[in-house]
Amino acid sequence: MDIALQERLQLALTAQRRAFEAERMPSYAVRRDRLERLLKMTRQHGEALAAAMARDFGHRARQESLLADVFTVESGAKHALHRLRRWMKPRRVETPLHFLPARNVLMRQPLGVVGVVAPWNYPYYLAMAPAVAALAAGNRVLIKPSELTPETSALMARIVAEHFAPEEMHVITGDAEVGKAFTQLPFDHLFFTGSTPVGRIVAQAAAKNLTPVTLELGGKSPALVDRSADLGLTASRLAFGKLFNAGQTCVAPDYLLVPRELMEPLTQRLLAEMRRMYPTIAGNADYTSIVSPRHFARLQGLIDDAAQRGARVLRSHVDQPDDRRLVPALLLDVPPDATVMQEEIFGPLLPIVPYDQVDDALAHIHRGDRPLALYWFGQDGAARDRVMAQTHAGGVTVNDCLWHLGQEEQPFGGVGASGMGAYHGEWGFRTFSKEKPLFIQSRFAGTKLFQPPYGATFERL
Ligand code: NAD
Repeated sequence: MDIALQERLQLALTAQRRAFEAERMPSYAVRRDRLERLLKMTRQHGEALAAAMARDFGHRARQESLLADVFTVESGAKHALHRLRRWMKPRRVETPLHFLPARNVLMRQPLGVVGVVAPWNYPYYLAMAPAVAALAAGNRVLIKPSELTPETSALMARIVAEHFAPEEMHVITGDAEVGKAFTQLPFDHLFFTGSTPVGRIVAQAAAKNLTPVTLELGGKSPALVDRSADLGLTASRLAFGKLFNAGQTCVAPDYLLVPRELMEPLTQRLLAEMRRMYPTIAGNADYTSIVSPRHFARLQGLIDDAAQRGARVLRSHVDQPDDRRLVPALLLDVPPDATVMQEEIFGPLLPIVPYDQVDDALAHIHRGDRPLALYWFGQDGAARDRVMAQTHAGGVTVNDCLWHLGQEEQPFGGVGASGMGAYHGEWGFRTFSKEKPLFIQSRFAGTKLFQPPYGATFERL
C-alpha cells in the first residue's frame, strides 16, 4: 500500500471532516451558494469540458457531451436550487392519539463527508450529479473520477479547485489503486458508479468502516418489443438509445427480445434508422468513438466470438473507420453461451433474440441478473402491465430508451446486481441526509401511565 497516497487521502478527508464539524448544519444560504457555484462552474466550462471529453474518447460528439454531461448537471443543480428550501424543512409527522400532545418531527441532517467514485462514460455528469445532491444536503464532497478520461478528470480537478475550497469539494485523480485506497476511507457515505465487479469490491471496503454505500452499477438491460409495437417508432428510438455515446451508456438497451415473426422487419428498420441518423460512421462528428483501444478490442472480440459460434453479424455501414469509431452491428442467431450474451456490452452491438410467447421472453430476463433498465415497446396496456408486474429493474422507459434517467422527480438506481440505493432530485437529497426522528415530549405526557409502580391502571390498558 502506497503510504504517501494514504496520507494524502487521509489529509483531504480530515480537512473536510474538521470543516464539517465546525458547521454541522449549513444554512440554506450556504448550500444555495455552493449549488450556484457548481452551476456557474458548469456553465463557464461546458465547452472546455466537451473538448476535454473529445480528446479523452478520441472523438466524442460535442452535442452528446453538452446534452449528457453539461446540461444534465445544470438542470440537476437548478432543480435542487428551486426545491432546496422545501427539502431542508423538518417535516411534521403524525403522532398517535395516546402520545398526544407530544409531537413527531423528522429532521434531515447532513451526513458529513461523502466520497464519490465516478466512471468514464459520462465523466462529468456522473461525478457532479451525486455532488449536487450531496452539497444540497449540506455535506462535504471528495470525488475520485475515472483514469480512463484523464483530460476531463484533470480539468474537473482544476475547475473544482477554482470554484470551491478544498474542504468543501475536492477532486482526487488517479487509477484503480487510488480508487481502492479512496474507498477504504471512513466516509460518512460512499457513492460509487461503475461496474458490478468493482461495485462488489467497493461494498466490501465500505463494510469494514460500516460506511453506507450507494452502488450505481451496470448489467444487461433488455428491450422487450411486444407484438403490439409500432415498428417504425420502435426502431428509431432503439437506434437512438443504442448509439448515443456509441452505446457506452449504463442504461443503453443491451439486447432485444422480439416476436419471432417481427425479427426480420425490425432488423431492416433498425439498420435503416441507424443509417438515417448516421449517414456515415467514418469521420461523422455526431458519432462517438470507443473510449480506449482495450475497450475497442473487447467489443471487436465480442463480435468475433459471436460470429465464430454461428451468429449472423449485420453491420449498419460499410465504412472502415480507423479512429475507434466502431461500426454498429446487429447480431442474430446468437447462441446463449456467446460472451455477448453473458457480459454487459457497453458498445454499439445489439443482439436480437426472438421469442414466441411473452412468457419465453420473461423467462429469458429472469435467467439473468436484475437489470439497471428495462425497455418495453408496444401499444397494448394490459401486456405492458403484465411485463411491469413480472419483472424487476432499476427503472423503465416505455416506448423509448434512456429517458427515465432524466426525471429528477423519480428515483434513479439499480436493483440486485445493478445496484442499491438511488438518487436524483429529492431522492438524492435523502440519500445524503440522515433522516433523524425527533419525538418531542410534552409537559403533560400520557406515557406517565407506563411508569412503575405498575398497578391497576396498567392492567386496564
Ligand atoms: P469501473 O468499475 O471499472 O470503474 C469505476 C471507477 O471505479 C473508476 O473511477 C475506477 O478508477 C474505480 N475503481 C476501479 N477499481 C477499483 C477498486 N478496486 N476499488 C475502488 N475503485 C475502483 O467502471 P467503468 O468501466 O469506469 O464504467 C463502466 C461501468 O459503469 C459499466 O458497468 C456501466 O454500466 C456502469 N455505469 C453505471 C451507471 C449507473 O448510473 N448505474 C452509470 C454509468 C456507468
